[in-house]
Amino acid sequence: MITREKTSAQELAEKWVNQQLESGKTAEDLHKTMFVYGDSVMEAQMDEQGTLQMKNKNEGSIVIFRTPEPQPGPMCRCCGMDYDNEKEALQCCAYID
Ligand SMILES: [Zn+2]
Repeated sequence: MITREKTSAQELAEKWVNQQLESGKTAEDLHKTMFVYGDSVMEAQMDEQGTLQMKNKNEGSIVIFRTPEPQPGPMCRCCGMDYDNEKEALQCCAYID
């Protein structure tokens, strides 16, 4: 189970790296890119031959803090126009039928 998860995480990271290389990035650009997948952390490291290797950096649990998304203000659900208050937003398209 754990082995399988590690494999797919590594596969995803390698796939991403290959896509980046195909789109013109160099191994040097991607050197030290970190990948987090569940509780797995990997880092792409360039070896002496200039080849990127996936190194497992798993050391205990992973905790990720994300900054909260900005909350949108009152908005008309019909046309998406922004308003200063909920009442105006509700009235916006209320009379159009
Ligand atoms: Zn509206």
